[in-house]
Amino acid sequence: DIFLPERGNSRGFDLRNRDDLEEIEAARAPFRTERFRAEPMLGSAFGRDRPVREIRNPADPADIAGEVADADGADVEAALDAGRDWSHCSPEKRAEVLRRAGELYERDFGAIFALLAREAGKTLPDAVGELREAVDFLQYYANQAGALKAPPRGLFACISPWNFPLAIFTGQIAAALAAGNGVLAKPAEQTPLIAARAVKLMHEAGVPRDVLQLLPGDGATVGAALTSDPRVDGVCFTGSTETAQAINRAMARHLAPDAPLIAETGGLNAMIVDSTALPEQAVRDIVASAFQSAGQRCSALRVLYLQEDVADGVLEMLFGAMDELRAGDPWALATDTGPVIDEEARRGIVGYIEKARLENRLLKELEKPIRGTFVAPTVIRVNGIGDLEREIFGPVLHVATFRVAEIDQVVADINACGYGLTFGLHSRIDDRVEHITSRLRVGNIYINRNQIGAVVGSQPFGGEGLSGTGPKAGGPHYLSRFVRTGIRVSTV
Ligand code: GLU
Repeated sequence: DIFLPERGNSRGFDLRNRDDLEEIEAARAPFRTERFRAEPMLGSAFGRDRPVREIRNPADPADIAGEVADADGADVEAALDAGRDWSHCSPEKRAEVLRRAGELYERDFGAIFALLAREAGKTLPDAVGELREAVDFLQYYANQAGALKAPPRGLFACISPWNFPLAIFTGQIAAALAAGNGVLAKPAEQTPLIAARAVKLMHEAGVPRDVLQLLPGDGATVGAALTSDPRVDGVCFTGSTETAQAINRAMARHLAPDAPLIAETGGLNAMIVDSTALPEQAVRDIVASAFQSAGQRCSALRVLYLQEDVADGVLEMLFGAMDELRAGDPWALATDTGPVIDEEARRGIVGYIEKARLENRLLKELEKPIRGTFVAPTVIRVNGIGDLEREIFGPVLHVATFRVAEIDQVVADINACGYGLTFGLHSRIDDRVEHITSRLRVGNIYINRNQIGAVVGSQPFGGEGLSGTGPKAGGPHYLSRFVRTGIRVSTV
């Protein structure tokens, strides 16, 4: 079956197992206070006379996770000059190197979990999931390298987000490399340290240094330079819809007309819970979908539609479950939700919550730590998805109610929001499931479960409309965008 990776997915860790937990604690402990570093690949930036930026733990501003020397215009220029594709290496050999990189990621899990907590505020379950996903991407695209019958496009700019600083960073690069391209990787400004570690491991596995180069820095300097340089043959981007649109415009002006943009962007994701749903199960899945990773997933649940007849009961149970959630230090095993990524993010989300409070729409708000950039998990009342002007990238859940007769209108409203990433449905009525899901224009639909954490190979991930260009990451069509099309094939 085309969806099944040859080796199967990464084994990962079982956090209910004491041996696994002890292994993790021992492996990550030495990295509790380590100062990590990141710099552009060519030349060593440290020690030279250039500015260095500190990266602080979002949960604890006193904890400095490391330092980054951001790339400047000259670094970008040098990287573009030196960059070359990987077509001199056979697809079989490329696959072997990528698989080896996955093994090295798993070898270094202690440093990786420490970095994910201290640089990105990831709880341990999130970090475990993220490492697995990164390894799965390496493995999955490696498995497909041999089947590609077209040449690489050349040099790819891979621009990745801070919310999956290892998995998405790795997925983009692994796809471009498996297809034989060279990569200039620009990680999010907030998470260059984990990116540097990942690149180091890919080099150790055998990816040549001029085939994969790291360019930490901000969008205005590094991102803008890469997406408007004709030496770049394609762009892979995950982040906001607005940035994807700006990249699209820059590429249209400066790059070859056939240079692809593969973008995964935002979402305004809904879940419908009808009166036949099992409330305990629905509540468990609502909590995970809305508040895991502090709501900082583009797949996260933003608007919950509850059937009127059961709304009060489900909300009471939901608020009770929320009272059990612990927001705090992501390093601690008891923590359920960590911080949001930085002060700018915190301020934006809190401003939004305060507005809802003034409008008397706040239904529930939890306690949160005082230090660090935390936002308390919050529930806000709305009439429907149409009330939301934009995606709020944090632990904020909106709730609306509906009557059965209004279900087609709810579906139409969800489609009308323009985004189309994930959708969740809790219902025991097969006809209704069919009726709703066949009308929705979204990328990933989840029935009677949570709507986050797509698994590479079995749940290809990506959206429609404002949510992205496709093809879906971790799916059978993804790599085809990374090779040249329109190649003439001569037949006998
Ligand atoms: N693939 C992730 C998930 O299924 C979301 C990726 C993202 O937030 O960009 O939860």
